[in-house]
Amino acid sequence: MLRFAPSPTGDMHIGNLRVAIFNYIVAKQRGERFVVRIEDTDKERNIEGKDREILEILQLFGLKYDDLYYQSRNLTIHQHMAIKLLEERKAFACFCTPEELEAEREMAKTSGTAYRYSGRCEVLSDQEVLANEKPFTIRIKKPKEAVEFEDIIKGKISFMPEEIDSFVIMRADKSPTYNFACALDDMLHDISLVIRGEDHVSNTPKQIHIRELLGYDKKIEYAHLPIILNEDGKKMSKRDSASSVRWLFEEGFIPEAIANYLILLGNKTPTEIFTLQEAIEWFDLKSVSKAAAKFDLDKLRFLNREHMKMMDSKELSRAFGFADAAIGELAKCYLEEGSTIKEIKPKIEAIFSAKPFDGSWGEEMKLLQKALKKAPAFETFDEMKSYLMKETGLKGKRFFKPLRVLLTGAEHGPELSYLYPYLKSYIEEIIK
Ligand code: GLU
Repeated sequence: MLRFAPSPTGDMHIGNLRVAIFNYIVAKQRGERFVVRIEDTDKERNIEGKDREILEILQLFGLKYDDLYYQSRNLTIHQHMAIKLLEERKAFACFCTPEELEAEREMAKTSGTAYRYSGRCEVLSDQEVLANEKPFTIRIKKPKEAVEFEDIIKGKISFMPEEIDSFVIMRADKSPTYNFACALDDMLHDISLVIRGEDHVSNTPKQIHIRELLGYDKKIEYAHLPIILNEDGKKMSKRDSASSVRWLFEEGFIPEAIANYLILLGNKTPTEIFTLQEAIEWFDLKSVSKAAAKFDLDKLRFLNREHMKMMDSKELSRAFGFADAAIGELAKCYLEEGSTIKEIKPKIEAIFSAKPFDGSWGEEMKLLQKALKKAPAFETFDEMKSYLMKETGLKGKRFFKPLRVLLTGAEHGPELSYLYPYLKSYIEEIIK
C-alpha cells in the first residue's frame, strides 16, 4: 500500500502535489492500494478546512484514493505504543523544560557545534521519575548503531546514532510527534513504499529506528524526491506564488498540464507531452534525477497550451461558462495568443460583450450590424463576407476591421474565417 500523507497546515504546494502524483502512479503500477492520510496531530498548526481543500485538489487531478484516514484517530494506539517502549526501557520520560532545552540549543549554536540532547533524563532512576510531578515528554533512546537505508532515487544513506539522537516521540500534552505517528501509521497501514520530499530524509532513520524498537521487521522502501527550485535557483517557498497549486489554478493552468509538468520535471520520460494515464505505462522512479529541478513557468505554459488543444471541447467550454462544444473550439483558436484559461477568457468575453459603436469604426460597424440583422444564417464565412460587402459597399480595411470588432470585440486576433464556424450559431447574440 502507498500513501499520500499531507498535513492540513497550509496551501497545497506543488512539491506535495508531485508526491501525491508519484505515489498514485506507483500504486497503480504495482496494483497496490493508494490511501490518503491526513496528518493532523499537530493541533496548533492545523488549519480548519485545509484537509477538504487538499482532497478537492486530488479529485481535480483524478488522483482517486482507496481510503482516507485522519492520523488523530489513531491517538490511543500511538499512546499505547509509547507506553510499551517506556515499559521496555526503550524510551524514557524527559522532564527538561522547553526553556532548558532552548538554552542548550543556544549554547551549541554559539560554540558552533550541532545540538544534541544532553541525555540528562535518560539516567533518572524509577524513583526519581515517579516522584517528579512536572509535565514530561517521552523520548526514544537513540540507536546503538548507524541506521542505513537504500533510497530508490538517492541510493544508500546512512545516519550515525548521534545524528538520530534520543528524540521526542510524545509531547507533554500526550500527543505523538510527527516522526512517531508517521512511523507507526506506516506500520499499521502496511505501507510498502514511502515516496516523499527530500526534506524528510533525516526523518527516515528515526522512523526506521522506532519500528525496529517495536520489533516490526518488514522493510519499507523509500524514495525521497529532490526539491523544486524557483527560477532564481533557490528552494521554492511559499513566497513563490507558482509554488501554490491554487495560484496555478487561478492563473488558468489546467490539471492535465500541471500533472504532466510535475512528472516531467527533473525526469527522463519517453515523450514530453502525456497524460497521467499514459505515465502509468512507463513511469520509473529510478529515472528521477537526484539533482534539484528548476521550476520553469514557460515550460508549464507550453504544456498548458498543448493540453488545452487536446482537451475535449465540451469540457473546455465549461471553463468559460458555456456548455456548447463550439466555445471550446473557439477557445482553441486563441491558443496562439494565450496559453491559459485566464488569458483566453477575456477574448471569449469580448466576443459576447457589447461592442463599441462610438469608436473609430463605429459607422461601418453600424452598417454591418444592420445588414447582418436582416440576413439569413450563413453556412460559411465566405458567404457572409460576399453578402455583407454587397450589402454595405464596404471593402478592404474598412470592411475587415469593423467586422472583426463587431464579431470579436477586438481589432486583432485569429482569422475570422477560422472563428466563423464556431461563432455562426451565436451571431445574433454577438452583434446585438
Ligand atoms: N505530513 C508530512 C508532510 O506533509 C508527511 C511526510 C511523509 O510523507 O511522511 O510533509
